[in-house]
Amino acid sequence: MHLAKRINAVAPSATLAISSLTKQMKAAGQDVIDLSIGQPDFTTPAFIDQAATAAINSGQASFYTPATGIPALKAAIADHIAQQTGTVYAPAQIAVTTGAKFALYGLFQVLLEPGDEVLVPTPGWVSYVEQIRLAGGRPRAVVAAAHFKVTVDELEQNRTARTRAVIINSPQNPSGAVYSRQELTLIGNWALKHHVLVVADDIYRDLLYNGATYTSMIEIDPAITANTVLISGVSKSYAMTGWRIGFAAGPEKLIAALGKLLGHATGNPTAASQYAAVAAFTSDGKAVEAMRAAFEDRLNTIFPLVQKLPGFDLPDKPQGAFYLFPKVKRAAALTHYTSVDEFVSALLQETGVALVPGRAFGMPDYARLSYATAKDSLLDAIGRIDKFVGNN
Ligand code: PMP
Ligand code: GLU
Repeated sequence: MHLAKRINAVAPSATLAISSLTKQMKAAGQDVIDLSIGQPDFTTPAFIDQAATAAINSGQASFYTPATGIPALKAAIADHIAQQTGTVYAPAQIAVTTGAKFALYGLFQVLLEPGDEVLVPTPGWVSYVEQIRLAGGRPRAVVAAAHFKVTVDELEQNRTARTRAVIINSPQNPSGAVYSRQELTLIGNWALKHHVLVVADDIYRDLLYNGATYTSMIEIDPAITANTVLISGVSKSYAMTGWRIGFAAGPEKLIAALGKLLGHATGNPTAASQYAAVAAFTSDGKAVEAMRAAFEDRLNTIFPLVQKLPGFDLPDKPQGAFYLFPKVKRAAALTHYTSVDEFVSALLQETGVALVPGRAFGMPDYARLSYATAKDSLLDAIGRIDKFVGNN
């Protein structure tokens, strides 16, 4: 079977691959604690489920919808963004997509000519690089020297005549780092000056801890907002990863192009999920707050314990998302593995604790731990890691 070069050049999603391996191990009766995939362990709040069931029972969910989403959902998204940031988007500036993942995928498809470059701050989420490649573009990793956040100088060093966009993900997957208003202002102005579009992936914006303040790229300056496409969705805030609803909001021309692509690619995001998302975005925020508070409690419990694990280096306490991203190269050496990849793999085989190797996020000496898991499982996992590293 001949397959296209573009798919042969792409690596499978490491996050999804490890999570599917852990599911297989669990099904085979193994005692696995899955700290790999980034998804809330909570089930979707009942009022959201009920909105979907009502749409199904009334027949509304039976039919195709507009490719970029039902008007009620676009209105709910626009109101929600306006409440959170003060920025007002018209319906024509919003496209609802099959997860934020497809908003990003589609965006690179409509934006990039072959060889166009996108600056990818590193560490960064596993799918950015491959989505850019699938669109014929060239991802250019910009490694953050400190605190997992890139500076304007680091971006400028990597800018070329082909640079079309930069991705800013805050709070960040995999480190939980949050960019300050000042850092974003510098990056936003730099991007504006050099005609580089900002892709602001704010999918974790509701998950902030211990009083951390948050600014989105779209609430700094109207000129920066006009040069930014906002990406977000319901997966993380509302425990709705399985429903697959995300969106892009930004310049009308770009959203119209994305709409054209969506019309041929997905048709529309699942109708029942769209009705569920309306209920999510128009809700009072109590459900989000309850889950956020639980993540905060877990972070505060496990952070000092993970810091103390032998061979784990984790200087900065994350301010958002639900991940820790320690450097574990010393832990790999202590256990006589030559690479973190081997260490992570042995940890899973021998203790049942699943992490994601940092290589998936562009930093091979690190590993990601998701704490979107019950506290007793987290404590159990930390105990197993401690024993595994300590005993070797
Ligand atoms: N952006 C980031 C940074 C992510 O971690 C994820 C993973 N869920 C996504 C986008 C995509 O989310 P979804 O497709 O579930 O909306
Ligand atoms: N984004 C989450 C993660 O990083 C979910 C899996 C994925 O889509 O990559 O684990």
